[in-house]
Amino acid sequence: MRRVYLDHNATTPVRPAVIERMGQVLREEFGNPRSITSYGRAARQVVDRARGSVASAMGASPGEIVLCSGGTEAANHALFGVTRNGPPGRDRDKVVTSAAEHQAVLEPCAELRRRGWRIISLPVDAGGLVDLAEAERVIDRRTALVSVMMANNVVGTLQPVQEIAVIGRAHGALIHTDAVQALGKIPIDVKRLGVDLLSVSSHKIGGPKGVGALFIRDGLRLTPLIRGGSHERSRRAGTENVPGIAGFGEACEEAIGSLSTEPARLRELRDRLEREVNDRIAGCRVNGRGAPRIPNTTNLAFEGIDAEILVMGLDQVGIVASAGAACSSEKPGPPQVLRAMGLDDASAASSIRVSLGWSTTPEDVDLAVERLVDVVARLRAAGEVVP
Ligand code: PLP
Repeated sequence: MRRVYLDHNATTPVRPAVIERMGQVLREEFGNPRSITSYGRAARQVVDRARGSVASAMGASPGEIVLCSGGTEAANHALFGVTRNGPPGRDRDKVVTSAAEHQAVLEPCAELRRRGWRIISLPVDAGGLVDLAEAERVIDRRTALVSVMMANNVVGTLQPVQEIAVIGRAHGALIHTDAVQALGKIPIDVKRLGVDLLSVSSHKIGGPKGVGALFIRDGLRLTPLIRGGSHERSRRAGTENVPGIAGFGEACEEAIGSLSTEPARLRELRDRLEREVNDRIAGCRVNGRGAPRIPNTTNLAFEGIDAEILVMGLDQVGIVASAGAACSSEKPGPPQVLRAMGLDDASAASSIRVSLGWSTTPEDVDLAVERLVDVVARLRAAGEVVP
């Protein structure tokens, strides 16, 4: 049976060039980058080259990139680093975030609240977009940090980060954005965005898992999250994951190299999928359709159908999608962002996410539509519906 992988927001298949590069590094460049020997120098060069690729993927300079274990660590470093991992200072005691964030931001915020910080969560509208007027209202001179994601992992909504950064900077707040789902899907330029901190992850762009980076604007000093050595210019201790970092660099090169064509290709495929599904399946709706979205993501509600049963039914016929929460540590059940967008329980529980990526072909989309039509019809006939 031919299988079609349409869960690129959870993780992506590793690109062949990445596998080749990592293999080469694993075989040949096994030195410790901290060593002063020729082995160390060679490994250091591998890390430096990759750092350069990651930096240019977001318009940063290499010295502004701290390599780490992934998007979760990068976001934790940003949040705990700015707040010095402790209680609020006398001047600033507020962190402003959004109701659409990933757990990588939500959970550190919950911890900061326990430590005495005031955490303000900006509401989102029916498209998943934060309300700029509300941002204007709540961001003030007591705000230490604003953390609003660039692209949502569940519905794909693109947030007005640039506008939010203008508001934040006017009050002297630092700006972090979780760009894990934006990297490689839309152009990113940290200077144009006006952010101080930006988190990215390798495994969402065809690189290996367990690697990511935090952009820290030149001149900004954060309290390190991980201590125990002077690696990454004393910003993140621990021997570098050299093959993983090399793979991340290669993935950045490929993903950014195809930015002039790939978003348009994916948008066309995604729109075709939405059109076909809407035409052929009754009671289907695209969640967040009206908002600006990354081109690879759609979130579809099928009236009366339980999303988890649908995802399992699709998996049995070789189509891999997600009930929305698979890329995070969220509890089972509908993702929080759908509730924040105002979906009622039944609609949220009947929504699946389909996310395309570099390996997706037009044939994949056509096959996915055919099987989706069949599985939905079968579940409805069998009465497998939301209670
Ligand atoms: N932020 C967003 C928006 C994500 O989608 C993910 C992926 O799960 C993460 C953060 C966490 O990234 P990582 O899996 O590299 O820790």
